[in-house]
Amino acid sequence: MGVFKKLFGKGAANSSELKREQIDEFIRNALREPVLCRLRVENVGQLLSALQLHFVIHGMSTADALEHIDQNLVGVCPACRTHSAGKGLVLITAYQGMTSMGISFGGASGGAERLLAGKCRNRNCSCNAMLISWRPKGTPDTLHKPYLDFYA
Ligand SMILES: [Zn+2]
Repeated sequence: MGVFKKLFGKGAANSSELKREQIDEFIRNALREPVLCRLRVENVGQLLSALQLHFVIHGMSTADALEHIDQNLVGVCPACRTHSAGKGLVLITAYQGMTSMGISFGGASGGAERLLAGKCRNRNCSCNAMLISWRPKGTPDTLHKPYLDFYA
């Protein structure tokens, strides 16, 4: 196994909610090494808000934690390779709260409304899974891309 730690396996892509242990495992590994996992789009907000909370509990401001995630994490559609920035993915959680209050998103949201519906941002893609790559700065692309290809 290379430098990346694989988590969850295919099973997580089929469950409707992440287990506490899965979230804990992701966070524990993400603090040490690059991590890649495959999730349902609907679970991405749950994982990333837990990651953000972890950083906040350990002393970062909410804004710094968001920035840290944005710089180190990317979501990639395994079907069409559309990338989603870490910051946008963290904010899905906030969007989820807002839609429950009746606020909706229109066409200029960069695909947020599709992510909220558990689908790929690309309107021509029906994939409902997402690869989450946590790659702390300094990990070379040569290690990153082949692994994404392997995992898709
Ligand atoms: Zn896609």
